[in-house]
Amino acid sequence: MDQSTESLTSHIDTTIPAHLLIGSSDAAYKRAVILLQQQLCQENGCGGCSTCRMIKEQQHASVLWFHPEKNYTRDQLDPLFAQLAFELNTNETFFFVIEKADFLTAACANSLLKSVEEPPRGYHFLFLAERLSGVVPTIRSRCAIHHLSVNASSYRSHPLFDFFTSTTFHDPAVFTKALDQSGITERESVELIDALLSHWIEAYRTALMAENTQSISESTHAIDLFSEAHSKQPMPGSSKLFWRDLFLEIKAI
Ligand SMILES: [Zn+2]
Repeated sequence: MDQSTESLTSHIDTTIPAHLLIGSSDAAYKRAVILLQQQLCQENGCGGCSTCRMIKEQQHASVLWFHPEKNYTRDQLDPLFAQLAFELNTNETFFFVIEKADFLTAACANSLLKSVEEPPRGYHFLFLAERLSGVVPTIRSRCAIHHLSVNASSYRSHPLFDFFTSTTFHDPAVFTKALDQSGITERESVELIDALLSHWIEAYRTALMAENTQSISESTHAIDLFSEAHSKQPMPGSSKLFWRDLFLEIKAI
C-alpha cells in the first residue's frame, strides 16, 4: 500500500474498488475531480472536454456525489443503494464520491460495508476526509489510503514517531528527553496521531498478508490505541502528559 504523499495528479489503482483520500477538503475534492477525469475522459483527463467539464460541475451521469448536511443520515445514502441495484455493462464504470467521510455515523458506515468490500462490477467508492483518525475503522480498513497533505509524510520523521512504531522496549529516559526537546504542541499531536495510525494500518495489512498472528494482534491493539487517542486529543498545555501516557500504553501491548 502506498502511504506516501501523492501529488494531485498521480494516478491511483482503480482495480481497488475503494479509496480514501486524506487532505484538506479542497485538496481532496480537487484530487477526486482529477482522478474521475482520468478515469472517464477519453483523453485521460484533458480537463477541457465536455466529460471533464461535467465531472467538475458534478453533472456527470457516472458519478454520484454525497455531502452531509451535518452528519450523514441513512436516508441521504438511499440514492447510492438505488444505483447499486443497477447492473452496469461490461467496461462501464460508476463512482460514488463520499465527501466528509469523517461525518459518516457508525450506522451509515455499517450500511455501506458490504458494498464497499465487494461492490457489484464497475462500481467504485472515493471517500474524502480531512483526517484518517476521524473515519470509522470499518471503512478505513477497507480502503486504499492516500495522503494528500505534506504533513502526513513529514510527521513520519518527527522525533517521537519511532517510539510509537514498534512495541519493542525504548528507554523511558531517552523518550522523556526526546519529548522535552520536541516541544510538541496540541495541533502537532493531532497530526502525529494520524501519521501513527496510518503506520499501524499499514502494518496490520502487511501482517494480515503474511498471516503473522502476533503482528496482527499487536497492530490491532495499536490501531485501537491511536483511534482512542484521537478521540481524546490533548487538552491545551497537556501534550507532554498525553504522549507520556501513550508511551506507557504502547509498551503494555
Ligand atoms: Zn477530457
